[in-house]
Amino acid sequence: MPGTESAREIMACAAERTVRFEQQTGEKPCLATVLVGDDPASATYVRMKRNRCAKLGIESRHVPLPASTTTEALVAAITELADDPAVHGILLQHPVPGHIDERAAFDAIPVGKDVDGVGSSSFAAMAFGRDGFASCTPAGIMRLLDAYGVDPSGKHAVVIGRSPILGKPMAMLLLARDATVTVCHSKTGDLPSIVRTADIVVAAVGKPEFVRGEWLKPGAVVVDAGYNEGNVGDVAFDEAGTRAQLLTPVPGGVGPMTIALLMEQTVEAAFRQAGLP
Ligand code: NAP
Repeated sequence: MPGTESAREIMACAAERTVRFEQQTGEKPCLATVLVGDDPASATYVRMKRNRCAKLGIESRHVPLPASTTTEALVAAITELADDPAVHGILLQHPVPGHIDERAAFDAIPVGKDVDGVGSSSFAAMAFGRDGFASCTPAGIMRLLDAYGVDPSGKHAVVIGRSPILGKPMAMLLLARDATVTVCHSKTGDLPSIVRTADIVVAAVGKPEFVRGEWLKPGAVVVDAGYNEGNVGDVAFDEAGTRAQLLTPVPGGVGPMTIALLMEQTVEAAFRQAGLP
C-alpha cells in the first residue's frame, strides 16, 4: 500500500491552489519552520519539508534557534510568527530539547496557523469534528486508507502507540470513522493477542520491526507509521507481507503522505486567512 501516488496527487492539487492563491492575493502561501538545536535527523526533516514547499511554489521561512533556547524564548519566537500576517502556517519540529516545555510551545501556535495539528486546541477540534487541522501523520494515514478503499466503519482497529502527535490522534480519527478502536502502549499486556484480533493495525512505536508477522490476523490492513534508522519501519515487512491484505512500505508509505498533508494544510490555512473559499 504505497503512499507515493496519493501523496503526489495531494501535492499536485496543493501546487494548483498555490498558483490560484497568488493570482488572487499577490502573495504566496508561507510556512514557517522552527528548529531548536542541531539534531541532524530533525534538520533533515525540516530541509525535506522546505524543499517540498519550494517545489510546490509555497514560500518557507526558517527560524533556527540554539539548543539552549528557553521555553519563554521559543514561545516568544512562535508568537512573533503567529502575529505576522505574511506567515500562514507554523511548524515546530519535534522533539525539542528536554528542558523545553514542548506542550507550551505547541500551544503557542494559534489554531488557524497550526498546520501540523500539534496544539491542544487542534487536537480538540479534530476529536470533536470541528474546524481545525489534524496532525499530519494520522490525517495522512486516513487519506491513504481512503485511497485504497479501506472503510474503517465497524472494523476493529488496533493502534500501537499513544503519542500526542500520532497514536492518540490516530485513534480519534479512526473512532470518528466508526472503527472500534483499541489503543496499546508500553504497559499493554499480551500485545500479540490483541493485535491478532485487529482488522486494521497502525504501528506507531518507534522500534524497528517490532510487530511480527505471526501477530497478524490473515487479511489485516497494516499501516506502518514507524521510521527507524536505516529506513526500517515498526513492522517486520517480509513476515507481515505473507499475512496482510494491505501493508504500507517504509520508506514510501506513510512518510510521503505526512509531507503531502502538511503542504495541503498550509495552502488551506492561507486561503482561510485570506477569507477565500
Ligand atoms: P513516541 O512519542 O516515542 O511514542 C511511542 C509510543 O510507542 C508510546 O506511546 C509508547 O508507549 C509506545 N511503545 C513503546 N514501547 C512499546 C511496547 N513495547 N509495546 C507497545 N507500545 C510501546 O513516538 P512517536 O512520535 O509517536 O513516533 C512513533 C514512530 O513513528 C517513530 O518510529 C517515528 O519515527 C515515526 N513517525 C513517523 C512519521 C512519518 O511522517 N512517517 C511522523 C511521526 C513519527 P508509552 O506511551 O507507554 O511510553
